Amino acid sequence: MKLYDSLTKEKTEFKTINNDGIVKMYSCGPTVYYYAHIGNMRAYLFMDTLKRVLEYNHYKVINVMNITDVGHLTSDEDEGEDKMSVSAQKEHKSVYDIADFYTNAFLKDLERLNIKKPTYIVKATDHIKEMIDFIKTLEQKGYTYIISDGVYFDVSKFADYGKLSNMSLEDKLAGARVEINEEKRNPQDFALWKFVEPNHIMKWESPWGLGCPGWHIECSAMAKKYLGDYFDIHTGGIDHLTVHHENEIAQNDCALGHKVVNRWMHCEFLQVDGGKMSKSLNNCYTIQDLIDKGYSPLDFRYFSLQTSYRKKLNFTFEALQASKIALSRLRALVNSHKNVKRELNSKEILNLSLYMDKFTEAINDDLNTSSALGIMWDMLKEMPLSEDVYNSAIRMDYVFGLDLDKEIEVKTNDSSIPDEILHLAKERNEAKKNKDYTKADKLREQIKEQGYAIIDNANGYELKKI
Ligand code: AMP
Ligand code: ZN
Repeated sequence: MKLYDSLTKEKTEFKTINNDGIVKMYSCGPTVYYYAHIGNMRAYLFMDTLKRVLEYNHYKVINVMNITDVGHLTSDEDEGEDKMSVSAQKEHKSVYDIADFYTNAFLKDLERLNIKKPTYIVKATDHIKEMIDFIKTLEQKGYTYIISDGVYFDVSKFADYGKLSNMSLEDKLAGARVEINEEKRNPQDFALWKFVEPNHIMKWESPWGLGCPGWHIECSAMAKKYLGDYFDIHTGGIDHLTVHHENEIAQNDCALGHKVVNRWMHCEFLQVDGGKMSKSLNNCYTIQDLIDKGYSPLDFRYFSLQTSYRKKLNFTFEALQASKIALSRLRALVNSHKNVKRELNSKEILNLSLYMDKFTEAINDDLNTSSALGIMWDMLKEMPLSEDVYNSAIRMDYVFGLDLDKEIEVKTNDSSIPDEILHLAKERNEAKKNKDYTKADKLREQIKEQGYAIIDNANGYELKKI
């Protein structure tokens, strides 16, 4: 199995670090100051697909996702106010109520999208002690300094700073924004601990005074607690590559004295109508917005699977509509193979195993889900109707997570179905009633060859275009 590594910028063979078949993985989770949008959900769908592909390959995956409920400022570069406090003031609620509300909304979205719940979902505010301990280690090793507003990490002491984003400190300096804190030794130095006034809403005692942790330290501290000093994979959205993950690497490698994350993987951005999602453009859609417009969360999952996680994906409602139609056809096609007790001959068995091999090859090539979907469609269309094909499709669906084994809302026969097909379906139903299954299967096959699926249900059968 090959996976791309954002640090080496190469697709390389995946091996677990301990050769024990256990994959330890960390994924940066949401900042719960508002609803997660569909761009955020793309990053979690990527995390989930990765986990599913690893499990399909018989690895046991232990994964951690953090919930950021403190420390993420309005700019990733430690400028501005804490996003949680801003939201609490706006909504006239406590930060803890805000965190609870949006965490629950987020967990509901994970479920609706069929994203497997990570082994550990952990909150930053429950790990302040671990963060303080981590900062103490960095301090003891001489990587920190204190200025008037907090404790900072000195990036010039870490020679590899910038390696992930392929930028030297000089490059980063050239691109630095103007409003940098004059007291910092280097513009890229980042806060580990920020001092706050006694009346600040979120605050904790620390060896350096009353304050809040910086955003980056939470991921290092929680990954260490749940995954140990060296783990297999760290994921996140591409926007985290240049700052947040550079800082995590600096903290980790300096505190522990060695490489901590074996492989970094990033999901490209989801754009809307060819541009950035933004509140002012009113295009920051949530999963609930899609549901309100008549789409199912799995339509969005299907839409996301059609493009590699390493490519930008452009969201439009036209494309979502096309995915909705495709998914419903796919579901019909899968179900038309269900319960068809037809023995495959040796050539067909070989063909079926070739489809499975091609599928495995595709997903093991850096999660090529778009090609894997195509292989599934071909298999379902080209193979004769058979329960064995159905079972293979359901095995593939372990990776896709589209619930293809569930018969969801098959609509009544639509008026566009030609009379000839309706007639064949009637004939097949008669054959089935007379227990002439060979004839029934033959007719079902004939119907499929003409582009329609026949799906049995409690009330008889339905016809659907595929
Ligand atoms: P945040 O809550 O801002 O920390 O973001 C949560 C996750 O969503 C992070 O992994 C981000 O990198 C990712 N993310 C944010 N915006 C997008 C987007 N438009 N497309 C894909 N991923 C995104
Ligand atoms: Zn993180």
